[in-house]
Amino acid sequence: MNKPTSHYIADRMRESVQTSRAIRVSPYRNAMLFALAVFMMVFMLSSFYAKSVQDQNSNDFDGRLAQKLSVLQSHVDMSARGYEQLLLAASTLFSIKPDVTREEWGRFYQQIQREHNIPQLIGVGYATMVPSDQLELFVQGQRDAGAETFAVTSSQQGDMGVITYLAPDSEENHLALGYDMMSEQQRKEAMGRARDQATVVMTSPVTLVQDSKIEEAKGVLMYYPIYHTKQVPPTIEERRAELKGYVYVVTRPADLIKKFIDSHQDVFSQAAVSVTDITITSPSTLYAMTRSNGAVERRSTVEIDSRRWQLSVAERDSVSNASSPIVLFLLGTAVSLLLSGLTYWLFYGRMRRITTEYEGEVKRTKDELLALASHQLRTPASGVKQYLGILNAGIFGTLTPEQRSVTEKAYEANERQLQIINELLYVSKADAGQLVIEPKRFDLTNLTQALIDGFAEQAAQKNITITFVTKKSYLVTADDRYISMAIENLVSNAIKYSYPSSKVRVGIQSRGQMVSLYVKDSGVGIADVDYERIFDKFGRIDNPLSHAEGGSGLGLFLARQLARAHGGDIVVTSQIEKGSTFTMLLPKKLMINQTIVHLNRIRKIVKS
Ligand code: ADP
Repeated sequence: MNKPTSHYIADRMRESVQTSRAIRVSPYRNAMLFALAVFMMVFMLSSFYAKSVQDQNSNDFDGRLAQKLSVLQSHVDMSARGYEQLLLAASTLFSIKPDVTREEWGRFYQQIQREHNIPQLIGVGYATMVPSDQLELFVQGQRDAGAETFAVTSSQQGDMGVITYLAPDSEENHLALGYDMMSEQQRKEAMGRARDQATVVMTSPVTLVQDSKIEEAKGVLMYYPIYHTKQVPPTIEERRAELKGYVYVVTRPADLIKKFIDSHQDVFSQAAVSVTDITITSPSTLYAMTRSNGAVERRSTVEIDSRRWQLSVAERDSVSNASSPIVLFLLGTAVSLLLSGLTYWLFYGRMRRITTEYEGEVKRTKDELLALASHQLRTPASGVKQYLGILNAGIFGTLTPEQRSVTEKAYEANERQLQIINELLYVSKADAGQLVIEPKRFDLTNLTQALIDGFAEQAAQKNITITFVTKKSYLVTADDRYISMAIENLVSNAIKYSYPSSKVRVGIQSRGQMVSLYVKDSGVGIADVDYERIFDKFGRIDNPLSHAEGGSGLGLFLARQLARAHGGDIVVTSQIEKGSTFTMLLPKKLMINQTIVHLNRIRKIVKS
């Protein structure tokens, strides 16, 4: 095997080892990434779902709020229409019978109530227009007609609008009888407009005569004019001249709304409702319920007889902003975590199985390749050695110096090649559990001396002096074949990684139950960080001499494993460009039970 081929095999080996290392980290990383992706996906989906539920809730809430407002608005509207109908009916009564009596008015009211059930009506009345100069006559007329205590209360001098009839005949309504409505500005203004426009006109909120003892009580009145003529006079002047009086209704909007809300508790239990007259610049609240913080409000405006009422319904959106989306979100997050955990667990397990299978496969292929390469290469390489030996021995005639130089170089190259093939072979045998320790007792000093002698020529080529300082014999029990391999590797490396004309020192010392054999050179040295890497399989480290010298990176790996298989070890101390000392420790007596060298199972036994 030539040098590039041996490099190729070594490179392939190194690659396969690195690949299996890379795969070993990937199941964890891949499973993590996959689990993370699942987490992100489920998390996003649940967030999206929670958001859409929140939106849906919010929409539902808006819809419900709008519906409440619309229910309220239609009630206000219907009530107002009811009052208008009542006024038109009353005006019809006057057109049929201009001199309606108090009793007839009472009956009219009862009939209306029976048939129409007008909501929250305080009263329906008739106010007669009385010129101030006819006041006494008018009062007398009323008393004669049966209202013996009839009296007019007014705070003004002009024409009066005196409440003449007011049904029902209740105690509070009695307070109002005889009251001149023209003496109060807001009533007067509404009456004036009703008269001029011949329509129903509602007052702004006023304090009712019935409520005079209660501050802030707000009522409204709706007027419809009654003229002396059968038909409504066409012009304003005629309407003013022909005005006879007004039919009117009186109500409290607050009662109207409250009654409605109370009877619809299921709808309005959480809602704050308010009604405000916004016709005038400073709005006047007709009804208001206190509203909780953070309530969402909806408003609408109703036109009632030339006035504008603003209705408002407000409510806290307790559903869309509160628990349900948050719960969904938290639930989603929990599910995402659970799913991603499960995914991780399943994926990691699967990846581990695949990786283990793959690693096994890689290892099997690697071992087969190693065994195949070493076996198939060894035979032809050994053949070359023998042929070169025959040539060198001069069996086919004496070689010229040039020829000898070439054959000797070829012999050396072939030696190196065989060395690498041998190392490969041993590693592959050890991997296959085929290296068996056959211990015997021998003198380590003698063995070392013999091995060093074998390197004399190689050392001489670089003018390196190898000094073996030990004379004392050290007996050990071990397999001398493997111990020789380890020592050879250390000495060979010391020569390879030393500069020409330097010194290598070898010695043996006793260390309790162990002996230590050191090989000290003054070569290129090894950095601290590489102390362990050089013992790895294919652990070649670049140094100034490594390219020129070549190698497989298997020597130290094998040497250490062999030492460990004997219950010993190999350790190194070094300084860059100063040199290295490799020390092999060996027990004097073999202390191991296991005599099969199995590289992957050997662990460090000796404390260095
Ligand atoms: P190889 O010599 O074939 O490369 P080894 O396993 O014997 O393989 O050595 C591994 C690496 O350790 C070498 O590539 C070299 O970098 C380093 N090394 C070994 N012995 C020495 C030494 N005596 N001095 C400096 N470096 C060494």
